[in-house]
Amino acid sequence: MLKPDVIKELSAVVGADHVMTANEDMIIYSNDATMFNAKPEAIVQPGSRDEVVEIVKIADRHHLPVTCRGAGTCLSGGPIPLKGGIVLEMTRMNRILKVDPVNKVAVVEPGVIAFALTTAANKVGLLYPPDPSSLKESTLGGNVSECAGGPKGVKYGITRNFVLGVEAVLSDGSIVKTGNEVDGDMAGPDWTMLFTGSEGTLGVIISITLRLVPIPAVKKTMMAIYDRLEDAAKTVSVTMASGIIPTTLEIMDNLSIVSVENYLKIGLPVKAGGLLLIEVDGVESTVEEDAKRVSEICKKCGASEVKMAKTPAEAEELWLARRSINPAFGQVAPCKFAEDATVPRSLVPVLVEKVLEIQKKYDVPIFICGHAGDGNMHPTIMFDKRNKEQKERAEKALHEVHIVTLELGGTLSGEHGIGFAKAPYLRAETGLAGYKLGQEIKKAVDPTGILNPGKMFFYEGELH
Ligand SMILES: Cc1cc2nc3c(=O)[nH]c(=O)nc-3n(C[C@H](O)[C@H](O)[C@H](O)COP(=O)(O)OP(=O)(O)OC[C@H]3O[C@@H](n4cnc5c(N)ncnc54)[C@H](O)[C@@H]3O)c2cc1C
Repeated sequence: MLKPDVIKELSAVVGADHVMTANEDMIIYSNDATMFNAKPEAIVQPGSRDEVVEIVKIADRHHLPVTCRGAGTCLSGGPIPLKGGIVLEMTRMNRILKVDPVNKVAVVEPGVIAFALTTAANKVGLLYPPDPSSLKESTLGGNVSECAGGPKGVKYGITRNFVLGVEAVLSDGSIVKTGNEVDGDMAGPDWTMLFTGSEGTLGVIISITLRLVPIPAVKKTMMAIYDRLEDAAKTVSVTMASGIIPTTLEIMDNLSIVSVENYLKIGLPVKAGGLLLIEVDGVESTVEEDAKRVSEICKKCGASEVKMAKTPAEAEELWLARRSINPAFGQVAPCKFAEDATVPRSLVPVLVEKVLEIQKKYDVPIFICGHAGDGNMHPTIMFDKRNKEQKERAEKALHEVHIVTLELGGTLSGEHGIGFAKAPYLRAETGLAGYKLGQEIKKAVDPTGILNPGKMFFYEGELH
């Protein structure tokens, strides 16, 4: 528990209503979307940048850990306050400060829900493409801190490709500003990217400048159905090699299809080994042509059927299956390791093959789905942690998924971040020199180490 004097100091900054210390609140804020938890000592909800500065100064003075939190949808343990201290909940700072249709930029506070920006941009004919499945819940502060991805990543890129600048409060309370509204700022190293994906370990992000793009004139959505998942995976690399860049190229295996069908009852092909959900967008003439060519590629690679949506409503129906994966999985087992193993696109078929072998070896259900077009696969290992023996098999399978991904030249995280869930494997990805560099940078930016301690390069458990 924090000392009453410290609570008084915090309350004087944000108001007593925005400082919580009750045990039930601590329990709620001890979690994210993983199955880990650790309780904070207080939750503080700042309403402005000045309040953030003052709270961080108080924390620094009292050597209190500060763990930022957006919506708490993280899949790697990022907002869990491992070392207690303060959870800084950023959702009151939720103003869209500017949407500029001429320069095609938006400036937002970190607590803005991603969908709110998408909606505001659409109103002036612009698109903010990063579209994590948590779009309607997660905050832009969380998206930038985790470098969130989504289905549209294939064509448009992930969050990193849209962050032009941030303002962040450092652990001594100073505000650093990186980048600006110019798309192509080359004044020195890209400090904006230092904060993008830094998972709250370097500074508290208080404003974000984001790039917007024009909304494409038309799009075409199709679903390709396969007897064999391997053929769906092969289609991914053949399509990407063809020169066509689809907007989305999502894969679902039979386990995913069956669990979504059991959940929704929408007539999905439950006997299929796998399916691809593909979208192409752009101007009318090329979209028609691209859709036709992609459909031909699917058939050549073994698709038994390609369903082309004729109306926006039909396209939505095709998307429904993909969007319902998370709740559907929840019905299969109470616990999951939701991975974002990402490999070079050409190696998606190899990763699929390896994951199928791991599934067989450890006899645990592993759903294979994800943003296959940019190599970002979501092997999701399902288990019940109350069953010790099953949990051990799931952990062994998880270990092998990480190792195989790295052996294929991939990354542990294409979008969910490292947090502490994947931190034991981070050194295996970065190498020793890269790992030490990560530690040195953190020490230079946050010398007192109060920002999100115990995560990423400062994991205290055993390293692989
Ligand atoms: C059902 C479901 C679907 C998902 N789908 C996707 C997906 O398709 N793609 C994807 O990339 N992710 C996905 N995720 C993961 C998650 O939604 C993203 O990582 C998201 O970016 C987290 O945002 P948040 O607001 O919930 O942040 P939180 O979970 O609250 O925090 C995430 C990290 O950001 C830090 N942070 C938050 N705000 C700030 C700030 N202002 N300054 C500094 N650090 C900060 C926290 O300390 C933490 O380390 C999904 C999660 C769920 C539950």
